[in-house]
Amino acid sequence: MDFVVEDVFRQIITGEAPADIVYEDEYTMAFKDINPKARFHALMVPKVDGLVTGFDVHSENLEIFGRLFLAAKYVSDLEDLDTYKLHMNVGTLGGQVVPRVHLHQLSSDYAPELDCSMPTDTVYYEDEATIAYQHENPVCDQHVVIQLKDPELVSGLDIRETNLEAFGNLFWVAKSVSQQLGLEGYKLFMNVAPNETSSPFTCFHLLSPDYKTEL
Ligand code: AMP
Repeated sequence: MDFVVEDVFRQIITGEAPADIVYEDEYTMAFKDINPKARFHALMVPKVDGLVTGFDVHSENLEIFGRLFLAAKYVSDLEDLDTYKLHMNVGTLGGQVVPRVHLHQLSSDYAPELDCSMPTDTVYYEDEATIAYQHENPVCDQHVVIQLKDPELVSGLDIRETNLEAFGNLFWVAKSVSQQLGLEGYKLFMNVAPNETSSPFTCFHLLSPDYKTEL
């Protein structure tokens, strides 16, 4: 299905359209969502053109995708968010409206809370750094947990300039699993909280389009 709106975020990046910018570096811009769904709601977007949806992640641009997590962490420092939620709609069938990759960052008052799951026997992907398995209590038709194995990377707050690819790879594994499952669109979710209040591993949820969200 084609996108029906133009890439308004490109105009924000070039300065042709206004936005409430909360963070910016060479690679990424973060600005407040015009229609907030939580007390704090911002969008992290890559500055480089050509990344339309999460399906555009590949081995050469993992770092750019990882930088979306890094920008969210910097924004959380600037905005005093102890915990936050990250969400991405991938493809029009996944609920995406604007044709440029964007990661929603919402304060913890944003409603949906998804629990992590212990590994199940249905493993869709595994390498030395990452494992993806079916959630033990799925909340929609297809609910897959993508987990980083490194015991040092227990939450989205552990993103650094030095591990961008490991985090960016979460998007690549999501794409890969979605293709195995025959999904033409999907949603991604991560709850980001300090280690002592969250599950003991970084947990990225891949959700089929029937998962209901406000976003
Ligand atoms: P998605 O449905 O995931 O594509 O999300 C698009 C988001 O972009 C929505 O939450 C909109 O409220 C937001 N949005 C659309 N236009 C603008 C804009 N000009 N400035 C800031 N946010 C916008």
